[in-house]
Amino acid sequence: MQKILVSACLLGSRVRYDGGAKRLDHELLARWRAEGRLVAFCPETAGGLPVPRSPAEIVGGDGAAVLDGTARVLTATGEDVTGPFVLGAHKALEAARAAGARIALLKESSPSCGSLRVYDGAFTATRVPGHGVTTALLRRAGIRVFGEDRLSDAAACLDDRP
Ligand code: SF4
Repeated sequence: MQKILVSACLLGSRVRYDGGAKRLDHELLARWRAEGRLVAFCPETAGGLPVPRSPAEIVGGDGAAVLDGTARVLTATGEDVTGPFVLGAHKALEAARAAGARIALLKESSPSCGSLRVYDGAFTATRVPGHGVTTALLRRAGIRVFGEDRLSDAAACLDDRP
């Protein structure tokens, strides 16, 4: 049974920076949950950040640049939270490996979990192409990462790997 790493907030956990969740109600997700495939994980809380916490954005690039040391993750007030974000990414990879998950379904646009877009670092609600820190690390390890609006792509990928 293929496991799928999933952003905990998509499964209803109130772990977002504002203390809320982004519960995703979808037939596929309900089926995967019933099949015992889902591994819930929140990289930011795993990295030691509290709930609630200050919103953060990547400044100077995307998640890959953070891993390479050429970009940082800052809060709206300028606090550098790069360390917890990178730690959370490594813990997410550990969790995926421990579960044998080769697919992840992560919350789009998050500085950790984004897979197509992230905010541009100016705190003006502007999104740009790129992926979050956790997504970057998972992809470097060969794990397929999809946003919540690409459930069917994740399903097709799952079907390819019985
Ligand atoms: Fe959700 Fe990921 Fe943000 Fe955690 S780090 S709250 S799982 S988007």
